[in-house]
Amino acid sequence: MAVENEVLGAGRSAWLEKDRRYVWHGMVPYEAAQHPLHVVRGDGPYVFDVDGRKYLDAMSGLWCVNLGYSRRELAEAAYRQLTEMPYYPLTQTHSPAIELAERISTWLGGEYRVFFSNSGSEANEVAFKIARQYHAQRGEPHRWKIVSRYRAYHGNTMGALAASGQFDRKYRYEPLAPGFVHVPPPDCYRCPFGKQPATCALECARHVDDVMRWEVDATIAAVIAEPVITGGGVLVPPDGYLPKLREICDRHGALLIVDEVICGFGRTGAPFGHQRFGVCPDIVTMAKGITSGYLPLAATAVRSEIFDAAFATSEDYAHLRHVNTFGGHPASCAVGLATLDIMERENLVDRARTLGEVLAGELARLEDLPHVGDIRTFGLLAGVEMVEDRATRAPLAPDLVARVVAECKARGVIVGKNGDTTPGGNNVVTLCPPFVVSEGDIQHIVDVLRDAILSLS
Ligand code: PMP
Repeated sequence: MAVENEVLGAGRSAWLEKDRRYVWHGMVPYEAAQHPLHVVRGDGPYVFDVDGRKYLDAMSGLWCVNLGYSRRELAEAAYRQLTEMPYYPLTQTHSPAIELAERISTWLGGEYRVFFSNSGSEANEVAFKIARQYHAQRGEPHRWKIVSRYRAYHGNTMGALAASGQFDRKYRYEPLAPGFVHVPPPDCYRCPFGKQPATCALECARHVDDVMRWEVDATIAAVIAEPVITGGGVLVPPDGYLPKLREICDRHGALLIVDEVICGFGRTGAPFGHQRFGVCPDIVTMAKGITSGYLPLAATAVRSEIFDAAFATSEDYAHLRHVNTFGGHPASCAVGLATLDIMERENLVDRARTLGEVLAGELARLEDLPHVGDIRTFGLLAGVEMVEDRATRAPLAPDLVARVVAECKARGVIVGKNGDTTPGGNNVVTLCPPFVVSEGDIQHIVDVLRDAILSLS
């Protein structure tokens, strides 16, 4: 790929030779892995590569560096904690974890019990265990199935991957954990039920009701859903979708797990994405933005009533038998607290909402471009679905979508591409900029994306 080679200065760096020899890059096909972007420094929304080139990072790394790069305050919080008390396991306790659990509960707007781990995948694994154990301890041990959506991504471990609905991530790793049932996603541009949004009566949510009955609802432990399917193509559901899932879960005795790994901590213009839909989940999983990506940390927050109803007992084996050495690491929790301090002090949730409106307004300029099929935004998140032909909506060929991404990079802007390569599902250019971009940066991102799209013609 000529553009990519030129930008990355392939071969100019001795680093690259070593990288090719020693580092294994996941999710990147072998050829593409020969030309990684070697980032050596970051500043605000910008990153700089080993050759000194500057890029506006419109993906916040991997959807996580919400506060932008090189915030000293976050580094200092980690340093202070590491010098004072670098490690102690959460089978006992420490102050940063206590404080952060309380803050998360406040951000969630209710009383939650928080279990810490290291990654979004783990946070979801923990949620599945908790859901199954909850039912077992309330006399329904056969409730073990988890319902999730095609196109969603919930992580890379055997359970979280089983919950995910993206074929290419599973292929050659199966069999995964059993007990996961998939339903079609809310995708208003390509409705799996052939409906139109104005008259669909939320068929995609209603279908979950059918599935619960077909699977026998007494076998269903939980439904897991992101507020907006992010990595699967930024699929924004109709307003009533999540409330309807909540209602269906209640009717069938299943728990509702909301995966806020990307949508949490202000990304959607609310503290958590589900709050924009007025829904109260039973379990919320989170990672990424919790430390703005500065250190690994994740959490599974469980509504207090759920905890109290099944886990606040001295009965044998009623406690959660799950521990990880580094989950809730004191330095990560300290960075999490500093992240929330900055978010609150700089009103970054409001800023993400306002900037999200700016982004939506700017992206509207792309509506009439050839190959732009659909533009979806939600807070400071966007997906531009690329098509070969606007009338047929045939997805644009994967190499052309990759070309748009590479052309943006050649122009100094990093955009993403959805990781879902389900047939017809790998054609969405994604944007997830840090909350510290300016309105001018957003205009620039959209200008560059426009030029990149036009360069295809
Ligand atoms: N859930 C969602 C919605 C995600 O986007 C991701 C990661 N992109 C995960 C879970 C898994 O998180 P991690 O990579 O930290 O394991």
